[in-house]
Amino acid sequence: MYPTLPRVFASCLNCCVTLGLPTNNNMTIARSTNHLPIPILMYHQIEVAPAKGAPLRGLCVAPQSFARQMYLLKLLGYRGVSMTDLLPYLRGERVGKVVGITFDDGFLNNYTNALPVLQRHGFSSTCFAVSQYVGKTNQWDHKIGIASAPLMNAEQLRQWIDGGQEIGAHTRHHVKLSQVSTADALQEIALCKSELESVTGSPVRHFCYPYGDFTQEHVDMARAAGYMSATTTARGRCLAGEDFMQLPRAIVTRSTSLLLLWMKLATRYEDRRRA
Ligand SMILES: [Zn+2]
Repeated sequence: MYPTLPRVFASCLNCCVTLGLPTNNNMTIARSTNHLPIPILMYHQIEVAPAKGAPLRGLCVAPQSFARQMYLLKLLGYRGVSMTDLLPYLRGERVGKVVGITFDDGFLNNYTNALPVLQRHGFSSTCFAVSQYVGKTNQWDHKIGIASAPLMNAEQLRQWIDGGQEIGAHTRHHVKLSQVSTADALQEIALCKSELESVTGSPVRHFCYPYGDFTQEHVDMARAAGYMSATTTARGRCLAGEDFMQLPRAIVTRSTSLLLLWMKLATRYEDRRRA
């Protein structure tokens, strides 16, 4: 039987990735063309898990586990890539064994624990940051009892990019978009991009819906804001015909074994669990 995924997956921390190209004047929705299924991995913290019983501790992948997982990708002949590097493959313009690597929320432990491993293997990745919490902590998690953890500050975000990685956008305040007004949602989506671009001095091309919570209106807003893709928490690998603004991902948690990781990458394990 397949290992059981922790209940964390059913939690609010759903990050759906949808790759969407900027719209042209006819508002054509960009979709992937013919290609093999492409997995996009979703990580949160790369840190030793808090004590048993702590809420959502499954979202902490131990640094040693992360290192083993990246080594497995390398052994299997995969290259881990950022959303920007993944786009040509999603479009069917390039063919190869690639895996999208994404980190949600912008935790400092991504910088301290994941970056050296990614660099060792020549991998790139995208970290989705929350623009109004740069250099602060995951305050949005506190109300559900998740321990405070530092987020990357401006200098660390720039060093993350200098280290060959990418910063994407995850709203200004990590809001549930369906629970704020249309005007606020627009600001959360569009201003996050410009604020992070100002902080990093680099273009921010990709978006991630906090909690995997969005409607078609938010998809349209993200596209209009100029994002080339958006990721969700919908499960599955990216198949031909995928809407780039609603990309599915495969979550990796504390208990994801190397066997399960391989199944997520190379089999229909995640595709079958797509809603
Ligand atoms: Zn998040």
